[in-house]
Amino acid sequence: MTSGADEPRRRNVVPGAYRGVAVTTVDCSLDEAALALHFIGREAYRRTRFIVVRNGAQTAIVSVRKASEDPLFAPITGLRVLAAAPDCAYVEDPDVDTAVPTALARAAMAAAPGKRGVAVQGRHGHVSFITDPAPLRVLVREVAPPYPPKLFDQARRVLDVAEGLPPIELVPDVVELTQLASSRPSPRYLLPCRGGAVSIAGARTAYLDERPEREQWTLIGCERSQQIHEWFYGERADQVDICPRHRAGGAGAILTKCCLLESQVEVADGVATVPWGASLAQISHALKSLADAWEPSWAPA
Ligand SMILES: [Zn+2]
Repeated sequence: MTSGADEPRRRNVVPGAYRGVAVTTVDCSLDEAALALHFIGREAYRRTRFIVVRNGAQTAIVSVRKASEDPLFAPITGLRVLAAAPDCAYVEDPDVDTAVPTALARAAMAAAPGKRGVAVQGRHGHVSFITDPAPLRVLVREVAPPYPPKLFDQARRVLDVAEGLPPIELVPDVVELTQLASSRPSPRYLLPCRGGAVSIAGARTAYLDERPEREQWTLIGCERSQQIHEWFYGERADQVDICPRHRAGGAGAILTKCCLLESQVEVADGVATVPWGASLAQISHALKSLADAWEPSWAPA
């Protein structure tokens, strides 16, 4: 039983949390006919839905059907090869949490590039797999410092444990404050806060959070900083807007942040925008929204 030629091949197939992956070593050839002969009629555990089959250095990944999922064990009645031996690899990496699709995809693409199916033996010796890894690329648009750029760093940490998200690859789109300042040369700059420890060579730099005496400066800040400036000094400043939300360019899924959002995450046109000081939970929600928008049919197998 192979899938029909006109059936579109699903990318990023990973087993769901409640689907068991068994690992079995066999002596037979790993083609579908030999595997069917070997497995059909044998008992498999109730939760076993997939089998990583090994013979020496060769690996194949198959899905199996059983007569029933009610008893603890039931005979296998059908078998389908998801990734045949020539297209399949077995990777051992104890740092990989195999319950996390992004971690599976990362390990597969790093250790077995070009392979359709990759079984990964990871943390705690657990084995899972991915077929046709093709992570969703998410552009992370923000400004630095701090280093590492905060939103990128937080999103990476969310993905490290994101069991319910499809594989995602973060692509940084980071602009430096000093680079933004150089777009508008000035002898005096005003930055939002001293905490960022940014100064601009050849210019005097003041920090808005210290509420300094008004000078004729150029504000390197966002709209919220401009509002604070107006509150302090009764007028708006000459400004370079640093809000990454307003930066143009780039296509596809974008994760960014905006100074004017305080508690909510906004999702529109494939772009998720979180508040400037977003929590990991908000970033997780934003990444889920992007996955739903860009990979609506993805679900664990
Ligand atoms: Zn903004």
